Amino acid sequence: MERKVFQLGDIVQMKKSHPCGSNEMEIIRMGMDIRIKCVGCKHSVLIPRAKFEKNMKKVLRSAEGDQGSEMTSI
Ligand SMILES: [Zn+2]
Repeated sequence: MERKVFQLGDIVQMKKSHPCGSNEMEIIRMGMDIRIKCVGCKHSVLIPRAKFEKNMKKVLRSAEGDQGSEMTSI
C-alpha cells in the first residue's frame, strides 16, 4: 500500500476543491489533527489526520529544498 508522505509547509492537492475553486492547500500545522490553509482564499481548516490522508490527492510542492526531484514511494 502506498504511503502518503507530507510535511509541514507542503502545498498539497486535495481530491475535492474548496468552495472558492482552489484545490491547493498548504499544511500549516501538524499533529493529531492537521491544519491546512487554502491557497486560493487563505481560509484555514483543521481536519483529522486520517481524513486528510484520505482527501489528499498528492503533494504538489514539498517544503524541503528538493523541488525538481520526483517524489518516489518506498
Ligand atoms: Zn478556498
